[in-house]
Amino acid sequence: MRRHTVIKSRQGRSPQQILPLNLVGQYRALQRPITAAIQRVLNRGQFILGPEVEAFEQEVAAYCETKYAIGVASGTDALELALRAMGIDPGDEVITTAFSFFAPGSAIASLGAVPVFVDIDPVSYAIDPQVVEAAVTSRPKAIISVHLYGLPCDLGAIRAIARRAKLKVLEDCAQAIGATYQGRRVGSVGDAGALSFYPTKNLGAYGDGGMVVTNDARIAEQVRLVRLQGSRDRVHHEVVSRNSRLDELQAAILRVKLPHLDAWNTARRAHAQRYHEALTKAQVSDLMLPQTFPRRTHVYHLYVIRSRHRAAIRDALSRAGIVAQVHYEVPLHLERAFAALGYRPGSRPHAERAAQEVLALPMYPELTAQMIQRIVDVIADVSP
Ligand SMILES: *Cc1c(COP(=O)(O)O)cnc(C)c1O
Repeated sequence: MRRHTVIKSRQGRSPQQILPLNLVGQYRALQRPITAAIQRVLNRGQFILGPEVEAFEQEVAAYCETKYAIGVASGTDALELALRAMGIDPGDEVITTAFSFFAPGSAIASLGAVPVFVDIDPVSYAIDPQVVEAAVTSRPKAIISVHLYGLPCDLGAIRAIARRAKLKVLEDCAQAIGATYQGRRVGSVGDAGALSFYPTKNLGAYGDGGMVVTNDARIAEQVRLVRLQGSRDRVHHEVVSRNSRLDELQAAILRVKLPHLDAWNTARRAHAQRYHEALTKAQVSDLMLPQTFPRRTHVYHLYVIRSRHRAAIRDALSRAGIVAQVHYEVPLHLERAFAALGYRPGSRPHAERAAQEVLALPMYPELTAQMIQRIVDVIADVSP
């Protein structure tokens, strides 16, 4: 309310602020069962790897249509530990996208492996299978394919390349839990999938959390081992590894939320449809809207438009109290952290151009038709 008043006094009117997402709204709707879940854990007095985590692992495995699910401390850890379980060693090359949140790059590099950043397809924003095919000459061991913004990538083409070149496929499902590719849940199609329960994700905890899903018994067993100091029995330690575990509290909270995920994703799709219709009707020049693909369901973790006039659009939205964000400003191959790999500007042109043009509009299940119309009206008024 205070923010509201500030805007009012400054501009002489009272536009309701629209933030990129609204976590408190979701909490209010589930306040009672979440409070009960937290109290259940506190009264039991077991906080790491207990019955809540075990039950949640089974529920996620059923939801993602995989045989196994293993809770870990974050989505980044899910990527790193899954790679390790796949047998990726220091010095091995792993192909991934040049345009994503930083985690695939850091997960690969944290193992001492070498990320090979490939360019994206400018429409789906996912790695371009043709470019992957070209990169396979350097003997990589695995590929991390990111379902960016909630849209499943072209898993059919990627798996075909992986089969020929004997690569493991790790799906980064951090932004896409619940999405389907040819009727199958993402995470169940590749050798393994990594989920993130970071609070802003479509299924968000109240802290960090992640999970590896897989149908491969060996990968599952190895992830269980390396999330717990390389120990099966907490007495003997077979390999040196780290601690990376999902909390009982977070698992208990996520168990309350999981049954709502499909409805939330359906609401996101309805909002995307509404954005699409209103933005199309507004006939804004030089605006690219998110595309859909046959037999792939998008879960719109983010609703991302692109324009050469991004700065003007973002400024106009900001003046109207609407916060739009850029995911991601810097493509991975040009990040300072990877300078030693020697990638040059211009070497991944589609990723670099996307980084300059993408803009995420507010997107969350509780968004209303009125809010979407207000956002679209502001964009329609921007004259480049
Ligand atoms: C959020 C995210 C992750 C994992 O992030 P954590 O914060 O470690 O849970 C991984 N990949 C992508 C693409 C993401 O958006």
